[in-house]
Amino acid sequence: MARVVVVGAGVVGLSCAVRLLEAGHSVDVLARDLPLETTSAVAAAIWYPYRAYPFERVTAWSRLTYAELERLSALEEAGVRMLAGTELHRARRPDPWWRDAVPALTRVSAFPPPFTDGWSFVAPVVEMPVYLPWLAARVEALGGTLTRMALSGLPDRAEVVVNATGLGARRMADDPSLVPVRGQVVYVEQVGLDRWWLEPSGPVYVVPRSRDIVVGGTDDEGEWDRRPDPDVAKLILERAVELVPDLARAAVVGHKVGLRPARPEVRLDVEDRGQTRVVHCYGHGGAGVTLSWGCADEVVRLVG
Ligand SMILES: Cc1cc2nc3c(=O)[nH]c(=O)nc-3n(C[C@H](O)[C@H](O)[C@H](O)COP(=O)(O)OP(=O)(O)OC[C@H]3O[C@@H](n4cnc5c(N)ncnc54)[C@H](O)[C@@H]3O)c2cc1C
Repeated sequence: MARVVVVGAGVVGLSCAVRLLEAGHSVDVLARDLPLETTSAVAAAIWYPYRAYPFERVTAWSRLTYAELERLSALEEAGVRMLAGTELHRARRPDPWWRDAVPALTRVSAFPPPFTDGWSFVAPVVEMPVYLPWLAARVEALGGTLTRMALSGLPDRAEVVVNATGLGARRMADDPSLVPVRGQVVYVEQVGLDRWWLEPSGPVYVVPRSRDIVVGGTDDEGEWDRRPDPDVAKLILERAVELVPDLARAAVVGHKVGLRPARPEVRLDVEDRGQTRVVHCYGHGGAGVTLSWGCADEVVRLVG
């Protein structure tokens, strides 16, 4: 069994750490930002393959993650719920490319204007403020450690390093193909909503959680500004009210911005650097939660 250093404590790093520990490896997680300070903490976080490629691998990882999140939804303390919801479109569409990753998808036949097509399915919805601490506690319960540490490069003396640094991999792996896709969200109070709604072209999404509702969003490629923009927040809410009119009476309770780590393809491969074997696992775009367990399983296989 290997001694593994996982760099990164977002949803990807923590899921990898859990799976590696379960496989019997010894694991230390190092991260500049602790779980609730990461991009992962900003995720909506509905299971949905979005801005992550290539389609075939993403569909396979998403299917595995769906099954694992469904299993975790039985544990109240993990913060995962299985919720039905609807995706709407303004024009006719074929089934989504990730169709095979969900057990059932029902085409909708009646639409509120201006929508003309759509489908409903049950998706895992993850409350990241609950789930990330739960994952971190799982790492420690399995004998792993989590330490805050900002690194200027990947450790070069470890036997195995998992590079789960998200957007940080631009520097850690010297990878200019990794770019930020800025996402802004507005949190509103719960007004009794128990279904999610989505219109990907906006993107517009409304994701109910136990105490609030996450309303999004934006996807601005190459944009690094982490400050919420009040004009953008207004626009986000206007578009969401068109999708879910009940939101018009919901009070705003917060704003956040996160930078999705986007890449032409998710990087999940091995690089041998002298005595250190580096497993890269980054570039999950708008789907880090959706791909997390599928990728973690593959990382364990690559560690060997
Ligand atoms: C608004 C918004 C909504 C989203 N909604 C969804 C959704 O509904 N569903 C979904 O699946 N995904 C969603 N996402 C995407 C998801 O948040 C990301 O894909 C995911 O968070 C990426 O996880 P990660 O662990 O790779 O990166 P991160 O969460 O960014 O974690 C990276 C870790 O690496 C560490 N690190 C980086 N550099 C260094 C360094 N030099 N030294 C030490 N540590 C370092 C960081 O400190 C951090 O701990 C959303 C994103 C945004 C912004």
